[in-house]
Amino acid sequence: MKYFYLYACCIPVKGYCRSLIIDTQREKIYYIPNALFHILSTFRNKNIDWIKDYFKQNEVIDQYFIYLIDNDLGVFVDNIHSFPPIELKYNSPHIITNAIIEISNKSSHNYSNIFLQLSHLSCENIELRYLCETTISSLRSVLNITDKIPFRSLVMILPYKSEFSYEKISVLANTYPVIKSIHIYNSPVFQSYTTESDCSIIFNLQKNILPDQCGKISFAHFSFNLKTISEAISFNSCLNKKVCIDSFGNIRNCLSKIQTFGHINKVKLKSVVESAEFQCLWTIKKDEITVCKDCEYRYICTDCRAFIKDPSDIYSQPAKCTYNPYIAKWEGEDDS
Ligand code: SF4
Repeated sequence: MKYFYLYACCIPVKGYCRSLIIDTQREKIYYIPNALFHILSTFRNKNIDWIKDYFKQNEVIDQYFIYLIDNDLGVFVDNIHSFPPIELKYNSPHIITNAIIEISNKSSHNYSNIFLQLSHLSCENIELRYLCETTISSLRSVLNITDKIPFRSLVMILPYKSEFSYEKISVLANTYPVIKSIHIYNSPVFQSYTTESDCSIIFNLQKNILPDQCGKISFAHFSFNLKTISEAISFNSCLNKKVCIDSFGNIRNCLSKIQTFGHINKVKLKSVVESAEFQCLWTIKKDEITVCKDCEYRYICTDCRAFIKDPSDIYSQPAKCTYNPYIAKWEGEDDS
């Protein structure tokens, strides 16, 4: 007796009109009918003869399996119990995984204090988001502080300045290997590079990075890796384990959220981020959000709790989403 084994790295997700297989290793998705989703999930432990007998649709069932094998998504096996499904449980030893620090002309951040407090939360990834112009030398003085702290990655977002030639910026990236990407907005031309230290440097034409531009939902922002999928199944895919410090030093869940949780110089970051009040949005899963819960993209899609369609309902769909899972179309998408 043969069973079909969908590779463990391939995660089937059911939507209202259609389903997906997310190949987390090749970071690709495949659209499948909901009937095939049921065969791969509900009837995973049934052999092929049993499935054909149950559906009385031999030809269709054969076509389904040919499609899966042609796309290298699985194989026939003799014993399905030798191939248990992958566990999609999200575990992270980090109290905070990502922190955004916003910087403007009015900022008087004590970077040593902020970075030290973030390191006590075992924060992995830092984003420095500049709303104002800066210089290479002031960037160096901030980066010298991060150098003593074991962050995994640092992203810098800066407004364009003529001083920021690729040569000077790449020297900065090569000097501080923690920098994984530098985005320079309001650039007169679009350019994209990768440095010797594997840092991506992008000069883009975007005029500014105001917080109201946050929350865009599009295919380009989807993430297909196992870690983000596991997180989205159990937690909020935007806010879980994230903290922001705005340009005035206020602690927030997100720079676009109005609510603040005290000033970084006056309260302990650890006590804020460990409070139930700060974490209350961390557990809002896509499976609980109106419309999203019926969407086949829900585990690869980013969420947004700052801009929602019904501000009186925290389980409301992100306001900037134009996808309709009930007809499987993005707004403006051609019917053909
Ligand atoms: S409905 Fe929109 S926001 Fe919700 S999961 Fe689907 S694509 Fe994402």
